[in-house]
Amino acid sequence: MTTRPPLGSPSLWQAVIDRAEARCQCSGACGKTHAKSGGRCEHTQGGWLGKHGGTVRLLAAPTAPADMLLLAHESAALPAARLAAWCGPCFDHARTAARRKAPPAELDALFDI
Ligand SMILES: [Zn+2]
Ligand SMILES: [Zn+2]
Repeated sequence: MTTRPPLGSPSLWQAVIDRAEARCQCSGACGKTHAKSGGRCEHTQGGWLGKHGGTVRLLAAPTAPADMLLLAHESAALPAARLAAWCGPCFDHARTAARRKAPPAELDALFDI
């Protein structure tokens, strides 16, 4: 079974995931403290999220809240240095938090592009 990278080029995805040692790099941006796993999310590529979540497929996704609000094809063009490995649930929650914090003017500007 192969795992397809969800966004960006496969080599970029691989570089980001390798750097993260195939483990979600969230350290609380999603709103959880991840205290049980040393302050960092314990989800690893191919790990098990549970009955509802299925298998973990890590994303190479932006680390900065402003970058999280980019459209998918824009964030796919970011360099590896601005990306981190995220599990789906952490990134979803972190992005929701980033969206909530963004000033409305900034959001409007994004949608104009
Ligand atoms: Zn995570
Ligand atoms: Zn998290």
